[in-house]
Amino acid sequence: MNVVIGAKTDPGRRSNNEDHFSILDVRRHRLWADGVLVIADGMGGRQWGERASAAAVETVQDTLVEMLAASRAAQTDTGEALESALRKANARVYEMSRQGKEGRGMGTTCVAAVVQDHALFVAHAGDSRAYLMREGRLRQLTDDHSYVAEQVRAGAITEESARRSRFRNVITRAVGIEPAIDPDVARYDISPGDLLLLCTDGLTNMVSEDDIGQTLQYAPTPQAAADRLIQLATRAGGKDNITAVVARFEVDNRTAQMRAEDLAPVSEADVEDVPPARPAKQAGPVRQARPIALIVAGILILLLAGLSSVLLHVLLRDGYTLRAAPPFVARPAPPAKTAPHLDLAHLTYNAPVPLYLKPVQGGFLSLNPSDGSLMAVTLHGNQVLKVSPTGAVLSLSPPPTKAQAASRPVFPADSNQHYATDAQGDIYIARAGNRDIVKYGPDLTPLGHISGLNSPGALAVAADGTIYVIDGETLKVIRPMTAP
Ligand code: MG
Repeated sequence: MNVVIGAKTDPGRRSNNEDHFSILDVRRHRLWADGVLVIADGMGGRQWGERASAAAVETVQDTLVEMLAASRAAQTDTGEALESALRKANARVYEMSRQGKEGRGMGTTCVAAVVQDHALFVAHAGDSRAYLMREGRLRQLTDDHSYVAEQVRAGAITEESARRSRFRNVITRAVGIEPAIDPDVARYDISPGDLLLLCTDGLTNMVSEDDIGQTLQYAPTPQAAADRLIQLATRAGGKDNITAVVARFEVDNRTAQMRAEDLAPVSEADVEDVPPARPAKQAGPVRQARPIALIVAGILILLLAGLSSVLLHVLLRDGYTLRAAPPFVARPAPPAKTAPHLDLAHLTYNAPVPLYLKPVQGGFLSLNPSDGSLMAVTLHGNQVLKVSPTGAVLSLSPPPTKAQAASRPVFPADSNQHYATDAQGDIYIARAGNRDIVKYGPDLTPLGHISGLNSPGALAVAADGTIYVIDGETLKVIRPMTAP
């Protein structure tokens, strides 16, 4: 399985960050794994919480590098390796806590995940969590080792009262508190398209599972999802340190030969070269690099960039005019998704969530059914903003030139213009005053126009490119142009 990872940690309103995470470079360490992720949320006075979580992450990482080395793949049970890693982390943190008065009571939660082809192994202690998102459904993989979670599981209290309980921060199992630990370890089947989230309680205490699920589902990349989750928790108050590590599983396109090379025996020197745990302040976007894939992607990008600059030159040689633009030719539409029947009587009203970071004008808001993104026009009418349904900005067209900014906006917020988009995100404007329909790309590149209409009004574009428009003079719906 190919694993694409995004991660972020934030201190929230606190002055220090006791959360730590690490993402192992499985290729560099020649591990028998497609992904290894660890998070920890430390507790203890002064700097001791930070030390506990850093030590735990580092020990788990070191142990897994040793035990999951490709050269010993045949003898290793991954679940046992994870259990052993958490036990060693426990021994180390417990030892640290006994070295002085100040360290007394230090400990940390820990969640460690290993991806091996279509299997996911998760080990944990404490109330940091792992979630798996599959086909739009979010499932919590880990049971919190906390007093209130145990009460809920025993049926003694409800989830609602657990959330409000003053004992909600009491952890019943954690790394480094007792001389020995019994971590939970489980194995799950995974498929391409699934998403894994590891997070600390700074996220789950601040953001509802509904919002977490929506964010995972609609963010364009794992890094965008992690960034957005941190943003949601911070906006909700950010009372605690927040960490989110998001992994998306994809079909592995590497050849069998390359996998065999990965599994070739390596020298001890390679295995011992383990990076330190990633400290919070260095946390940032992470992606498992695949050198050959990157080189191929690089060459493709260069070719595409060259091709598009030639095309752009051809398109723009007549300046900002639509006369030379090609006619409307429908691009192949993405496969239609079956949409649920919407019965307004049974829809629930969600509390309004401000989705847009920039002010937008009210004249135009359109949903692209192919990816669920929303398109809006910025207040000055010269830029198009594309956002995911959770508010992450996917793209913003280039700012207007001085001349454009000084002249009439492309999208004036007036009632004489009507707007529509097609499945590719291209924008159609029916201009009653000009008696025409113009088409722009999502970046506001002019793509063509139809003139000679009577009084074009509200319009819609079908998946095959057919345009339907209300003729303001005859008050009939007409099809001014049909795709070939
Ligand atoms: Mg916490």
